[in-house]
Amino acid sequence: MPELPEVETVKRGLEPVLVGRRITHVRLRRDDLRIPFPNRFAERLAGKRIERVGRRAKYLLAELDGGETLIIHLGMSGRLTLSPKDGGSREGSYYHKAKPLEVHDHVIFDLDDGERLVFNDPRRFGLMSLARTADISDAPFFHHLGIEPLSDELTVERLLEGLKGRKTSLKAALLDQTFVVGIGNIYACEALHRARLSPRRLCLTMTLTRAQRLAGAIKDVLLAAIEAGGSSLKDYVHADGSLGYFQHSFAVYDRQGEPCPRNTCKGTKIRRIVQSNRSTFYCPNCQR
Ligand SMILES: [Zn+2]
Repeated sequence: MPELPEVETVKRGLEPVLVGRRITHVRLRRDDLRIPFPNRFAERLAGKRIERVGRRAKYLLAELDGGETLIIHLGMSGRLTLSPKDGGSREGSYYHKAKPLEVHDHVIFDLDDGERLVFNDPRRFGLMSLARTADISDAPFFHHLGIEPLSDELTVERLLEGLKGRKTSLKAALLDQTFVVGIGNIYACEALHRARLSPRRLCLTMTLTRAQRLAGAIKDVLLAAIEAGGSSLKDYVHADGSLGYFQHSFAVYDRQGEPCPRNTCKGTKIRRIVQSNRSTFYCPNCQR
Protein backbone atom coordinates (compact mmCIF):
# COMPACT_ATOMS: atom_id res chain seq x y z
CA MET A 1 0.00 0.00 0.00
CA PRO A 2 1.55 3.32 -0.99
CA GLU A 3 2.42 5.48 2.01
CA LEU A 4 2.99 9.22 1.95
CA PRO A 5 6.60 9.15 0.63
CA GLU A 6 5.53 6.93 -2.27
CA VAL A 7 2.64 9.27 -3.13
CA GLU A 8 4.96 12.28 -2.89
CA THR A 9 7.38 10.48 -5.23
CA VAL A 10 4.60 9.88 -7.74
CA LYS A 11 3.59 13.54 -7.43
CA ARG A 12 7.16 14.65 -8.17
CA GLY A 13 7.29 12.29 -11.11
CA LEU A 14 4.02 13.56 -12.56
CA GLU A 15 4.67 17.26 -12.05
CA PRO A 16 7.07 17.91 -14.96
CA VAL A 17 5.03 15.71 -17.29
CA LEU A 18 1.59 17.09 -16.53
CA VAL A 19 1.95 20.78 -15.69
CA GLY A 20 1.05 22.90 -18.70
CA ARG A 21 -0.46 19.96 -20.59
CA ARG A 22 -4.04 19.89 -21.77
CA ILE A 23 -6.15 16.76 -21.29
CA THR A 24 -7.56 15.96 -24.71
CA HIS A 25 -9.61 12.90 -23.87
CA VAL A 26 -10.53 10.74 -20.88
CA ARG A 27 -11.77 7.21 -21.20
CA LEU A 28 -13.39 5.34 -18.30
CA ARG A 29 -13.53 1.60 -18.62
CA ARG A 30 -15.93 1.16 -15.70
CA ASP A 31 -18.41 3.24 -13.66
CA ASP A 32 -16.57 3.27 -10.39
CA LEU A 33 -13.40 2.58 -8.45
CA ARG A 34 -13.90 2.51 -4.65
CA ILE A 35 -16.63 5.08 -5.22
CA PRO A 36 -18.47 6.03 -8.43
CA PHE A 37 -16.83 8.58 -10.69
CA PRO A 38 -18.44 12.05 -10.39
CA ASN A 39 -21.17 13.02 -12.86
CA ARG A 40 -19.85 13.73 -16.36
CA PHE A 41 -16.32 13.07 -15.09
CA ALA A 42 -14.70 12.54 -18.49
CA GLU A 43 -16.51 15.52 -20.05
CA ARG A 44 -15.51 17.84 -17.22
CA LEU A 45 -11.84 16.92 -17.68
CA ALA A 46 -11.65 17.01 -21.46
CA GLY A 47 -10.00 20.17 -22.81
CA LYS A 48 -8.76 21.31 -19.40
CA ARG A 49 -5.20 22.47 -18.87
CA ILE A 50 -3.29 21.18 -15.84
CA GLU A 51 -2.02 24.22 -13.94
CA ARG A 52 -0.46 22.61 -10.89
CA VAL A 53 0.20 19.17 -9.41
CA GLY A 54 0.04 18.81 -5.65
CA ARG A 55 -0.61 16.43 -2.79
CA ARG A 56 -2.73 16.51 0.38
CA ALA A 57 -2.15 13.55 2.71
CA LYS A 58 -2.14 10.60 0.29
CA TYR A 59 -4.30 12.30 -2.34
CA LEU A 60 -2.74 13.49 -5.59
CA LEU A 61 -4.19 16.77 -6.83
CA ALA A 62 -4.17 18.14 -10.37
CA GLU A 63 -5.41 21.71 -10.44
CA LEU A 64 -7.17 22.48 -13.73
CA ASP A 65 -8.02 25.69 -15.49
CA GLY A 66 -11.75 26.30 -15.16
CA GLY A 67 -11.69 26.10 -11.36
CA GLU A 68 -11.79 22.38 -10.59
CA THR A 69 -9.16 20.03 -9.17
CA LEU A 70 -8.82 16.38 -10.09
CA ILE A 71 -8.34 14.23 -6.97
CA ILE A 72 -6.68 10.82 -7.23
CA HIS A 73 -6.10 8.31 -4.43
CA LEU A 74 -4.03 5.23 -5.23
CA GLY A 75 -5.75 3.11 -2.58
CA MET A 76 -4.03 -0.22 -1.93
CA SER A 77 -2.84 -1.11 -5.40
CA GLY A 78 -3.37 1.91 -7.67
CA ARG A 79 -0.63 2.68 -10.18
CA LEU A 80 -0.17 5.48 -12.70
CA THR A 81 1.68 4.63 -15.87
CA LEU A 82 2.99 6.92 -18.59
CA SER A 83 3.43 5.87 -22.17
CA PRO A 84 3.25 7.52 -25.56
CA LYS A 85 -0.27 7.27 -26.95
CA ASP A 86 0.60 6.32 -30.48
CA GLY A 87 3.23 3.69 -29.88
CA GLY A 88 6.81 3.55 -30.95
CA SER A 89 9.69 4.42 -28.69
CA ARG A 90 10.71 8.01 -28.27
CA GLU A 91 14.24 9.32 -28.19
CA GLY A 92 15.12 10.41 -24.66
CA SER A 93 11.76 9.32 -23.36
CA TYR A 94 11.20 8.27 -19.78
CA TYR A 95 9.65 5.04 -20.91
CA HIS A 96 9.97 2.65 -23.73
CA LYS A 97 6.90 2.19 -25.82
CA ALA A 98 3.14 2.30 -25.92
CA LYS A 99 1.57 -0.39 -23.80
CA PRO A 100 -1.49 -2.36 -24.79
CA LEU A 101 -4.26 -1.82 -22.23
CA GLU A 102 -4.47 -4.33 -19.42
CA VAL A 103 -7.57 -5.67 -17.73
CA HIS A 104 -7.15 -3.42 -14.66
CA ASP A 105 -6.42 -0.24 -16.62
CA HIS A 106 -9.53 1.67 -15.54
CA VAL A 107 -8.92 5.29 -16.56
CA ILE A 108 -6.99 6.59 -19.56
CA PHE A 109 -5.99 10.24 -19.87
CA ASP A 110 -4.70 11.40 -23.25
CA LEU A 111 -2.63 14.58 -23.21
CA ASP A 112 -2.10 17.15 -25.93
CA ASP A 113 1.57 16.23 -26.42
CA GLY A 114 0.83 12.62 -27.23
CA GLU A 115 1.49 11.23 -23.76
CA ARG A 116 -0.96 8.84 -22.17
CA LEU A 117 -1.46 8.47 -18.43
CA VAL A 118 -3.14 5.25 -17.36
CA PHE A 119 -4.57 4.42 -13.94
CA ASN A 120 -4.38 0.74 -13.14
CA ASP A 121 -5.86 -0.66 -9.93
CA PRO A 122 -6.48 -4.41 -9.53
CA ARG A 123 -8.10 -4.14 -6.08
CA ARG A 124 -9.99 -0.90 -6.78
CA PHE A 125 -9.53 0.76 -3.40
CA GLY A 126 -8.35 3.83 -5.28
CA LEU A 127 -10.64 6.69 -6.18
CA MET A 128 -10.95 9.72 -8.43
CA SER A 129 -13.05 12.78 -7.90
CA LEU A 130 -13.36 16.46 -8.75
CA ALA A 131 -13.72 19.38 -6.37
CA ARG A 132 -13.85 23.14 -6.68
CA THR A 133 -10.28 24.36 -6.27
CA ALA A 134 -11.34 27.47 -4.32
CA ASP A 135 -12.84 25.45 -1.46
CA ILE A 136 -10.94 22.20 -1.75
CA SER A 137 -9.96 22.13 1.92
CA ASP A 138 -13.67 21.79 2.73
CA ALA A 139 -14.14 18.88 0.32
CA PRO A 140 -15.37 15.69 2.01
CA PHE A 141 -11.97 14.02 1.57
CA PHE A 142 -10.05 16.80 3.23
CA HIS A 143 -12.06 18.70 5.82
CA HIS A 144 -11.24 16.30 8.68
CA LEU A 145 -7.54 15.92 7.89
CA GLY A 146 -4.89 16.99 10.37
CA ILE A 147 -1.41 18.47 10.09
CA GLU A 148 0.61 17.90 6.90
CA PRO A 149 3.85 16.45 8.33
CA LEU A 150 6.24 17.83 5.71
CA SER A 151 4.82 21.34 5.82
CA ASP A 152 5.54 24.19 8.21
CA GLU A 153 2.30 23.22 9.96
CA LEU A 154 4.18 20.54 11.87
CA THR A 155 5.85 22.55 14.60
CA VAL A 156 7.13 21.27 17.93
CA GLU A 157 4.56 23.42 19.74
CA ARG A 158 1.64 22.14 17.70
CA LEU A 159 2.78 18.54 18.06
CA LEU A 160 3.20 18.86 21.81
CA GLU A 161 -0.13 20.63 22.21
CA GLY A 162 -1.90 17.98 20.15
CA LEU A 163 -0.33 15.11 22.08
CA LYS A 164 -0.74 16.47 25.60
CA GLY A 165 -4.53 16.22 25.56
CA ARG A 166 -4.62 12.60 24.40
CA LYS A 167 -5.15 9.52 26.50
CA THR A 168 -3.71 7.18 23.87
CA SER A 169 -0.23 5.83 23.16
CA LEU A 170 2.16 7.76 20.93
CA LYS A 171 1.81 5.13 18.21
CA ALA A 172 -1.99 5.48 18.14
CA ALA A 173 -1.72 9.27 18.00
CA LEU A 174 0.64 9.18 15.02
CA LEU A 175 -1.79 6.97 13.10
CA ASP A 176 -4.73 9.32 13.77
CA GLN A 177 -5.27 11.13 10.46
CA THR A 178 -7.31 13.87 12.13
CA PHE A 179 -4.15 14.77 14.06
CA VAL A 180 -1.28 14.25 11.59
CA VAL A 181 -1.86 12.94 8.08
CA GLY A 182 0.06 10.43 6.02
CA ILE A 183 2.02 8.63 8.73
CA GLY A 184 1.06 5.01 8.21
CA ASN A 185 2.13 2.04 10.28
CA ILE A 186 5.60 1.81 8.76
CA TYR A 187 6.62 5.43 9.28
CA ALA A 188 5.05 5.62 12.74
CA CYS A 189 7.36 2.76 13.80
CA GLU A 190 10.36 4.30 12.06
CA ALA A 191 9.80 7.81 13.44
CA LEU A 192 9.40 6.57 17.01
CA HIS A 193 12.62 4.55 16.71
CA ARG A 194 14.50 7.54 15.35
CA ALA A 195 13.10 9.70 18.17
CA ARG A 196 14.04 7.03 20.75
CA LEU A 197 10.47 7.06 22.08
CA SER A 198 8.50 3.96 23.02
CA PRO A 199 5.40 3.39 20.91
CA ARG A 200 3.60 2.54 24.17
CA ARG A 201 4.44 5.82 25.88
CA LEU A 202 1.32 7.75 26.79
CA CYS A 203 0.92 11.02 24.91
CA LEU A 204 0.28 12.97 28.08
CA THR A 205 3.83 12.22 29.28
CA MET A 206 5.35 14.16 26.39
CA THR A 207 7.66 17.03 27.15
CA LEU A 208 9.08 19.78 24.98
CA THR A 209 12.38 17.95 24.39
CA ARG A 210 10.61 14.69 23.51
CA ALA A 211 8.30 16.55 21.15
CA GLN A 212 11.34 18.16 19.52
CA ARG A 213 12.88 14.74 18.92
CA LEU A 214 9.61 13.38 17.54
CA ALA A 215 8.89 16.33 15.22
CA GLY A 216 12.40 16.09 13.77
CA ALA A 217 12.18 12.31 13.44
CA ILE A 218 8.85 12.40 11.59
CA LYS A 219 10.24 14.79 8.98
CA ASP A 220 13.55 12.90 8.76
CA VAL A 221 12.08 9.47 8.09
CA LEU A 222 9.60 10.77 5.52
CA LEU A 223 12.20 12.90 3.71
CA ALA A 224 14.75 10.07 3.73
CA ALA A 225 12.18 7.78 2.12
CA ILE A 226 11.32 10.39 -0.50
CA GLU A 227 14.98 10.97 -1.29
CA ALA A 228 15.49 7.21 -1.61
CA GLY A 229 12.80 7.37 -4.28
CA GLY A 230 15.11 9.33 -6.50
CA SER A 231 15.96 12.86 -7.45
CA SER A 232 15.01 13.04 -11.09
CA LEU A 233 12.04 11.90 -13.12
CA LYS A 234 14.04 9.02 -14.56
CA ASP A 235 14.37 7.57 -11.09
CA TYR A 236 10.62 7.52 -10.61
CA VAL A 237 9.70 5.79 -13.81
CA HIS A 238 10.14 2.05 -13.86
CA ALA A 239 10.96 0.15 -17.00
CA ASP A 240 7.26 -0.49 -17.58
CA GLY A 241 6.47 3.24 -17.35
CA SER A 242 4.86 3.05 -13.91
CA LEU A 243 5.68 5.77 -11.41
CA GLY A 244 6.90 5.18 -7.90
CA TYR A 245 9.78 3.39 -6.31
CA PHE A 246 10.69 0.14 -4.70
CA GLN A 247 10.45 0.27 -0.96
CA HIS A 248 13.81 0.51 0.73
CA SER A 249 14.76 -1.14 3.99
CA PHE A 250 13.71 0.04 7.41
CA ALA A 251 15.39 0.33 10.81
CA VAL A 252 12.73 -1.52 12.80
CA TYR A 253 9.66 -2.11 10.62
CA ASP A 254 9.20 -5.84 9.90
CA ARG A 255 12.52 -6.60 11.60
CA GLN A 256 11.32 -8.57 14.59
CA GLY A 257 14.20 -10.53 16.18
CA GLU A 258 16.90 -8.63 14.28
CA PRO A 259 19.43 -6.44 16.13
CA CYS A 260 18.62 -2.77 16.63
CA PRO A 261 20.74 -0.77 14.15
CA ARG A 262 21.69 1.73 16.88
CA ASN A 263 25.26 0.90 17.96
CA THR A 264 24.67 1.70 21.60
CA CYS A 265 22.00 -1.00 21.76
CA LYS A 266 24.64 -3.72 21.32
CA GLY A 267 22.38 -6.05 19.40
CA THR A 268 19.16 -5.70 21.40
CA LYS A 269 16.54 -7.52 19.35
CA ILE A 270 13.66 -5.64 17.73
CA ARG A 271 10.39 -6.61 19.34
CA ARG A 272 6.96 -6.90 17.75
CA ILE A 273 3.80 -6.06 19.68
CA VAL A 274 0.22 -5.47 18.58
CA GLN A 275 -1.40 -2.07 19.18
CA SER A 276 -4.91 -1.31 17.92
CA ASN A 277 -4.74 -4.48 15.80
CA ARG A 278 -1.60 -3.29 14.02
CA SER A 279 1.93 -4.63 14.38
CA THR A 280 4.36 -2.31 16.09
CA PHE A 281 8.11 -2.91 15.83
CA TYR A 282 10.44 -1.23 18.28
CA CYS A 283 13.65 -1.54 20.26
CA PRO A 284 12.97 -2.05 23.98
CA ASN A 285 16.44 -0.70 24.83
CA CYS A 286 16.71 2.67 23.13
CA GLN A 287 13.03 3.54 22.84
CA ARG A 288 11.68 4.71 26.18
ZN1 LIG B 1 17.84 0.24 20.02
